[in-house]
Amino acid sequence: MVPDSRRREIAAGLEAGLARIAEAEQAAGRAAGSVDLVVVTKTFPAEEVAVLADLGVTHVGENRDQEAAPKAQALRDQGLVWHFIGQLQTNKVRSVVDYADVVESVDRIKLVRALSKAAAAVRGPQAPLTCLVQVCLDDQPGRGGAVPEQVADIADEIVAAPLLTLGGLMAVAPLDGDADRAFARLAELAEVVAADHPTARTVSAGMSGDLEAAVRHGATQVRLGSAVLGYRPPVG
Ligand SMILES: *Cc1c(COP(=O)(O)O)cnc(C)c1O
Repeated sequence: MVPDSRRREIAAGLEAGLARIAEAEQAAGRAAGSVDLVVVTKTFPAEEVAVLADLGVTHVGENRDQEAAPKAQALRDQGLVWHFIGQLQTNKVRSVVDYADVVESVDRIKLVRALSKAAAAVRGPQAPLTCLVQVCLDDQPGRGGAVPEQVADIADEIVAAPLLTLGGLMAVAPLDGDADRAFARLAELAEVVAADHPTARTVSAGMSGDLEAAVRHGATQVRLGSAVLGYRPPVG
């Protein structure tokens, strides 16, 4: 059971997050409603994700399969769209494609092949899996993401896979870098990808600390965790 006080806190966090997105759209001269919200629910219990669903949230993001799989299973009747946003090992792919609707962290050809195989085994032709290519915007590829030079090849590989759909690109701003510069680079890469693949228009960028910069540079989707759900202890 989620106490009423926490329910109110979540509702207020959601309202504040949506208001920030609306302000950022307006400040950037973009149409109201042009930026979608994915609420990042990692570390928060399934009961609180159900509260979000009651409040009208449809897109949720998780970064660890061990945590996401049971939560998605418990909430499978809520009509939520699950985004997998964490670094993904090929041995977890079969589990992830069972509940995820979007995998945002596709950063290597080998992972595309594993996703394609698992989608055929677990999902079938009625339920194509949307994939975003995660781009690394700094010199720390340890945090996940393909270097910009690899993005086109990975995108082509996704397009060639019968049960995968290329949605677009995803990125996380560098830890100590300039978010505006990073998201401007991401926008350039997104243009190149969309030129080859006109339906791949999603740009997933912007988190609680930098959503305004992401929206200025054309993000179509932001991923907000702490701005909506509050403090989350760092995972180690
Ligand atoms: C945790 C996480 C987020 C959300 O971070 P906040 O700063 O809490 O908004 C967004 N994207 C990814 C990839 C994450 O791992």
